[in-house]
Amino acid sequence: VEPAHHRDVATRHFVGGKVPLGLKRKALRVLVTGGAGFVGSHLVDRLLERGDSVIVVDNFFTGRKDNVLHHLNDPNFEMIRHDVVEPILLEVDQIYHLACPASPVHYKYNPIKTIKTNVVGTLNMLGLAKRINAKFLLTSTSEVYGDPLQHPQVETYWGNVNPIGVRSCYDEGKRTAETLTMDYHRGANLEVRIARIFNTYGPRMCIDDGRVVSNFVAQALRKEPLTVYGDGKQTRSFQYVSDLVEGLMKLMEGDHVGPFNLGNPGEFTMLELAKVVQDTIDPNAQIEFRQNTQDDPHKRKPDISRAKELLGWEPKIPLREGLPLMVSDFRKRIFGDQDAAAT
Ligand code: NAD
Ligand code: UDP
Ligand code: UDP
Repeated sequence: VEPAHHRDVATRHFVGGKVPLGLKRKALRVLVTGGAGFVGSHLVDRLLERGDSVIVVDNFFTGRKDNVLHHLNDPNFEMIRHDVVEPILLEVDQIYHLACPASPVHYKYNPIKTIKTNVVGTLNMLGLAKRINAKFLLTSTSEVYGDPLQHPQVETYWGNVNPIGVRSCYDEGKRTAETLTMDYHRGANLEVRIARIFNTYGPRMCIDDGRVVSNFVAQALRKEPLTVYGDGKQTRSFQYVSDLVEGLMKLMEGDHVGPFNLGNPGEFTMLELAKVVQDTIDPNAQIEFRQNTQDDPHKRKPDISRAKELLGWEPKIPLREGLPLMVSDFRKRIFGDQDAAAT
């Protein structure tokens, strides 16, 4: 078999590429850590579609084989069960480093494991990138801004984070991951990219991951009340997954390190989100108030001027358009599951 990197592919689908349209370019070998997860699996779809070879490294903590099942027979696709906390030897051109649970319920489940994934896992992937001279992209998070005192959040804002709270394994973990990434950039001359991702939703999210969009959608479909935590006046900005994947690829292929906020600036209170879910699924869905979790950020909205200007990127899909796409996926999976359970 011809080595993957000797293949030529058309440039038709090459997001952000510098090869003129219609010409051939060398296929890339791309590693996606966490590629069996929600965002990772959508990214894998796009990379394969573009003609590149993809290796997924995932320990299946929150990811599922189902998410990438449709690629298993593709010779350009490979999946390795591996925990990034352990070193690994691979040869690739680019690394998208996503491995890390993203939902608060998942990352608080084993906080020590979460911080090890963020710190040791990121260190290993940076060490790998350095040895093979691969381009490295870190998926950081809007959580690095903590409970922000600046609104909307700009990349130059340093954040307001509790270092000893229940969310710290994740937000301090990602802050350290950013530090490591910049230190390998400055110290080892590694080519790096940092994305700060804001709340993202779409098909393939874990149904019971406890995040607000997946909770509300699953609850409305199951005819259960929507659980609003606290007074429901806290805000978030919700981005559809295809917009994020486009942003990540433009960032990787572009000339700028970042960090870049990647998010949809449309800001909603949790009560407004509940209303959108009611309008989309069931106008009669009830609302039930629950106690909020500790250290819950009061508001969050990205300033995306930097990404607009330097990456030529902005999200295209507003919440009311993206939500129905996720609802049909959840409907299939929830009622499919119930049928399966009944037999
Ligand atoms: P996800 O939980 O669906 O995916 C994470 C993937 O990483 C899963 O497949 C999981 O099995 C894998 N993983 C976790 N720990 C691992 C380890 N130690 N070794 C190997 N694999 C491991 O989450 P997602 O929403 O797809 O998030 C992907 C990335 O984007 C994460 O780094 C997350 O922090 C970041 N992010 C996501 C959002 C969002 O709203 N979805 C927001 C901000 C940042
Ligand atoms: N590493 C890895 N794969 C590689 C190269 C390195 O997993 O191909 C790991 C390595 O085990 C180490 C980490 O990445 O724990 C950092 O590597 P680096 O070479 O930067 O640091 P050092 O090994 O010198 O401490
Ligand atoms: N939330 C809610 N009901 C739920 C789950 C979450 O009201 O069933 C709230 C939560 O308190 C937070 C917001 O929704 O204010 C977003 O929570 P999520 O866990 O989705 O993501 P976060 O942005 O906190 O990481």
